[in-house]
Amino acid sequence: MISRNTILSHHEMCQNEYGRMLQAGMHFRPNGRTSIFLMSVRKNAPYKDQIEDGGRVLVYEGHDAARNMVDADPKEFDQPSALPSGKPTQNGHFNRAAQTFMNGSSAAEIVRVYQKVFDGVWVFNGSFKLVDSWLEHDGKRNVYKFRLELVDDLDLHDLTANELSHSRLIPALVKAEVYKRDKGCCVLCGSKDNLHFDHNLPFSKGGTSLLAENVQLLCARHNLQKSDKIE
Ligand SMILES: [Zn+2]
Repeated sequence: MISRNTILSHHEMCQNEYGRMLQAGMHFRPNGRTSIFLMSVRKNAPYKDQIEDGGRVLVYEGHDAARNMVDADPKEFDQPSALPSGKPTQNGHFNRAAQTFMNGSSAAEIVRVYQKVFDGVWVFNGSFKLVDSWLEHDGKRNVYKFRLELVDDLDLHDLTANELSHSRLIPALVKAEVYKRDKGCCVLCGSKDNLHFDHNLPFSKGGTSLLAENVQLLCARHNLQKSDKIE
């Protein structure tokens, strides 16, 4: 299993999810496996996803009606929780999971979250607990919102102590800037495989993930070598 801040091509992301072709944003327990959200906070993103508290909290926007369910732009319509057949949409599935968690009748749904950096470039943001959901009026219509909180312990087994010490999320703009500056290559060997966003100075030693100068691209090998040195 990959760790947080791992950079993936679209193909690698799908491979990491058991070869499932990931197109839509929301996947409730695909084939009985862990749920998945794809997110984007880019300016032209179709949904208003937000990252808060240094990446430990995500507020994910639900999905619009399918084009064949409505006779005009889906952005003009309330986001549906059910299909005309009465079966739940993805909004309906996740909303129910959040509500049953909140009333104490189920454990929190775990959602693995990937974020788009550029077209074809994704990053694994980590595993999150779905802790709340609500309908919100966006000025025009009702949209679903899902609140997710980072689960540290799920990732413990695949994080080194060094990674843990700075496991805060790097903001999307910083990621995009670093990826461009380092030309999508490990800064030490030029490899384009198994890349990672790496903090030059660990978070615990005061390195902030808010500045591109403190973040660089490293391949898996150099990322590991670096954490061995620091321990
Ligand atoms: Zn390298």
